[in-house]
Amino acid sequence: MAIVAGSSNQVYNCLLTGDFCTCPSYTFTVLVKMESLMCKHLLAVHLAEALGEFNSKTISDEDFAAYMSFDNTTNDKSSQDPGASALPRN
Ligand SMILES: [Zn+2]
Repeated sequence: MAIVAGSSNQVYNCLLTGDFCTCPSYTFTVLVKMESLMCKHLLAVHLAEALGEFNSKTISDEDFAAYMSFDNTTNDKSSQDPGASALPRN
């Protein structure tokens, strides 16, 4: 999984296997309208992988579960994961 910082300070989770992003653009442009194959976040992840330009971090299953249950859709900086700007990949 990759964590990608969006242009409006939102943080999105991109699943590398099967290509999925939690952003609204992916939902509407890819899943609903089927006009694109991926959103800009997934494109950025694939480019970063190809260029080797990403930060990775291995976390435990418990930490992954805690992260996934954390509401990272808010713009409130005080409640965001301080490591959210990295691109962990498993
Ligand atoms: Zn996206």
